[in-house]
Amino acid sequence: MRLHYCSLAALLLPLVVASATDFDYFYHVQQWPGSYCDTKFGCCYPGGGKPPADFTLHGLWPNYAACRTTYGDVQLVDDGGVAGELEKKKKKCWPEFCGKDDPLSPVQISDLIGDMQQSWATLSCKNNENFAFWTHEWDKHGSCSNFDQHTYFQLALQYQARFNLTAILADAGIVPSNETTYYLSSIRDAIAEATGSAPNLECNRDASGETQLYQVYQCVDLTGTVPVNCTLPKTGCTDKVKFPAV
Ligand code: AMP
Repeated sequence: MRLHYCSLAALLLPLVVASATDFDYFYHVQQWPGSYCDTKFGCCYPGGGKPPADFTLHGLWPNYAACRTTYGDVQLVDDGGVAGELEKKKKKCWPEFCGKDDPLSPVQISDLIGDMQQSWATLSCKNNENFAFWTHEWDKHGSCSNFDQHTYFQLALQYQARFNLTAILADAGIVPSNETTYYLSSIRDAIAEATGSAPNLECNRDASGETQLYQVYQCVDLTGTVPVNCTLPKTGCTDKVKFPAV
């Protein structure tokens, strides 16, 4: 009997291992609604009105520490070529769309939906449906997280609640304003000091072309709970940026 269970485990183990997605850390990405809404494209808040003046969730994104080049299913060590077959090479900087048969189900996340409507609302005017935004985040990123649907959304919400970025910045004297500009380094330092990990900051431009803080990327370990250091991609920020009112 014992042998029987061992053989079964030996058969199943490779399947379990093969189905786990390999990546290095998560980006926990939050967005400043003032900077989403004041571009030339504007924004739409579900149900009308203005979004609250708080950072809002964009997603929890599995990420590679360094981009990877693959040829078919084979991962290439360097970016060197296979002559004439270059078009079959793919460079990927994160895994995406990992789950084919696991569409987001409202039943799986029913107890989280109230919090998600508050903290993870869509601002897109093209598709102003929260569930469509959450489905996109689950399909593209969550399906590669190695978490089930409930765990994925719950961990993202819990991390957001644990480090309240709006309050962290306010404590450092960085408050939304349509006049003041802030040193990018002061924003990064305030978050690094409060969380123990330096974030990556992404900027965009308002309708008049001024650079402003748009998204904060915090790096989190594979359990989705521990802040970690990570490499920083390009951000589009200048030394001083706006942090506009919502
Ligand atoms: P992702 O595909 O998760 O990397 O995020 C990029 C996509 O999310 C783009 O299509 C954006 O237009 C969309 N997006 C970014 N922020 C929001 C938001 N607050 N609400 C709805 N869609 C968004």
